[in-house]
Amino acid sequence: MENSNCCVCQKPKANLECGVCHEHVCKKCAQFVEDGSFSFYKTVPKILQSTVFCGPCYDREISPAIAEYEQIMKKAKGISIFMKEDSKITQRFSRKENPIEIKECEDKDELVMRMAFLAVTGGFNALVDVEIKHEKVKPGGKYQYTNWSGKGIPTLVTSSRHL
Ligand SMILES: [Zn+2]
Ligand SMILES: [Zn+2]
Repeated sequence: MENSNCCVCQKPKANLECGVCHEHVCKKCAQFVEDGSFSFYKTVPKILQSTVFCGPCYDREISPAIAEYEQIMKKAKGISIFMKEDSKITQRFSRKENPIEIKECEDKDELVMRMAFLAVTGGFNALVDVEIKHEKVKPGGKYQYTNWSGKGIPTLVTSSRHL
């Protein structure tokens, strides 16, 4: 690799590449983000699929993206979730939206959070008619795990509404 000076400290032999500006960056100046850090997004924005960034790009692009992601996660924890069995008490809620569906998840709590996260990104604060299923999966006859899947309809519930 020739002319691979770090774009931050200018030292040679910087063998990492920033996922935003694609300049070389050395290990000392690079900022790392764990793989899968933004995996709850339905489509992870391209720059957030990288795990290595130079300092300036990290501060400008990634740091605010992490803050936003955490904000959505916080809201997702607070949304109302009504199971299909509760359809009597939620019968007056709007069901205009397409259902949110997650087909593969190895953890039930994560499945619910993923559905809630997508509801929040769509501007909703509740999920109704939620159905959660699980099945035992044994890929290649090796170890067995439980695959969770679920779906629900995102909707907007106002707090003034009494059930
Ligand atoms: Zn450097
Ligand atoms: Zn950069």
